[in-house]
Amino acid sequence: MAAYAYDATPLAGEASAVALPRSADQAAAVLRVCNREGVPVVPRGAGTNLSGGTIPQRGMLVMAMTRMDRIIEIDVDNLTATAQPGIVLGKFKAAIEAKGLLYPPDPSSMQVASFGGTVAESAGGLSGVKYGTTRDYVIGLEAALANGDLIRVGGKTLKNVSGYDLTHLFVGSEGTLGVITEATVRLIPLPEARRTALAVFNLLEDAAEAVSEIIRRKVVPRSLELIDSESIKHIEAYKPAGLPLDAEAVLLIEVDGRASHVDEDLALAAAACRDMRAREVRIATNAREAEALWAARRSHYPALARACPTIIIEDVCVPRHHLPRMVKMVKEASRRHGLKIGMVAHAGEGNLHPDILCDARNAEEMRRVEQFIEEIVREALSLGGTLTGEHGIGSMKAPFLAWQFGAAGVETMKRIKATLDPKGILNPDKLFSEGGMKLSRSCG
Ligand SMILES: Cc1cc2nc3c(=O)[nH]c(=O)nc-3n(C[C@H](O)[C@H](O)[C@H](O)COP(=O)(O)OP(=O)(O)OC[C@H]3O[C@@H](n4cnc5c(N)ncnc54)[C@H](O)[C@@H]3O)c2cc1C
Repeated sequence: MAAYAYDATPLAGEASAVALPRSADQAAAVLRVCNREGVPVVPRGAGTNLSGGTIPQRGMLVMAMTRMDRIIEIDVDNLTATAQPGIVLGKFKAAIEAKGLLYPPDPSSMQVASFGGTVAESAGGLSGVKYGTTRDYVIGLEAALANGDLIRVGGKTLKNVSGYDLTHLFVGSEGTLGVITEATVRLIPLPEARRTALAVFNLLEDAAEAVSEIIRRKVVPRSLELIDSESIKHIEAYKPAGLPLDAEAVLLIEVDGRASHVDEDLALAAAACRDMRAREVRIATNAREAEALWAARRSHYPALARACPTIIIEDVCVPRHHLPRMVKMVKEASRRHGLKIGMVAHAGEGNLHPDILCDARNAEEMRRVEQFIEEIVREALSLGGTLTGEHGIGSMKAPFLAWQFGAAGVETMKRIKATLDPKGILNPDKLFSEGGMKLSRSCG
């Protein structure tokens, strides 16, 4: 049971029962009984979320979707794919790529995260700057409602304006409106070619400025990632990849598309970086070199995790041109609160992850972490940004929801929730709990 009471945050919970449905009908039947008996249900994929979204409390049932892991169809004529929620996202993507097609959403956790979990979080990833996030690809789904009804919304057509857009109501709903039992996504042709470059900066702010400069020159890379010096230090200590230890930041840039265009795009991006004071731009000469750089980026989390007892991966998103200001503020606030942080950013989207290296057993330090998070969230909102770019609200950010939407906005969401789940059995205390789960009180 303990294996179902955690996620990728340091929060601790307790599950009283676990259901592992093998079909949509079974999931619906369990919900019907739980609704009748007033038993709260926490839908769960792989438990990799970073917002406390799958933490149960005593008396709750966890519904883990891992046994519903079939690919139902990859339709090369209509460029769609349909799967059950429990399939590991990386496996689903690989099967699609084997047919020369691409399902772009690529969270760094994709070799573990479930497809359904990524739909319920509307996960983003490294290619969001060019291709968008999960929300941009889901065109239909099946969901089991709190009362045990099964509904199908959207479909396989690329155009569909029948009725309210319930498909996108479920995408990103974090298990609070229904259990997703199947989803259909649209696909695109696999790009013909990809090229990677690493731009090295003496100043973090220059790296952040270069991001907008690249886009200003009408190049939209597939990925545009920023890694700061603290993160570089830990990545190099974990799996050396030749990242420069004396740089304040690097940008990792990947362009893709027609073979005839990628070199030109990469040259434009490299020139933009040099004009923004990059001291060096290294272009990967082959796929092996490029993969080594991306492997370094992907090793960021394990690299930081081995350096401290607890790592809290924060997530705010601002309009891209405010990234330099946000980066500066985060650095200043972490110093003021005496916190060690590493920073990576899906910089092309203005999506910043300040990763806090700390110890969840230290309640005093956790209070400073909470203050730091509150300050960066307020700053992101003041810059026209959002509480979370991809990790969701869960329980960690529930206390801040009204800061972004105001009382009337939150009330509107609560009314939608009450319509679909009148007894409030689906993932209670997530999204709306005013108190949320405090790190200083609720860590394992
Ligand atoms: C190392 C690491 C890197 C990460 N990188 C990224 C990244 O690049 N981009 C990103 O967006 N996220 C990232 N994440 C966060 C996480 O992987 C994503 O949020 C992912 O979408 C969660 O999928 P999961 O299967 O683990 O879902 P879970 O954590 O099990 O659940 C997530 C939420 O979805 C709900 N849920 C799960 N399945 C269903 C279902 N079938 N029906 C209804 N609700 C459901 C749960 O109740 C919960 O609210 C990362 C996490 C880690 C640990």
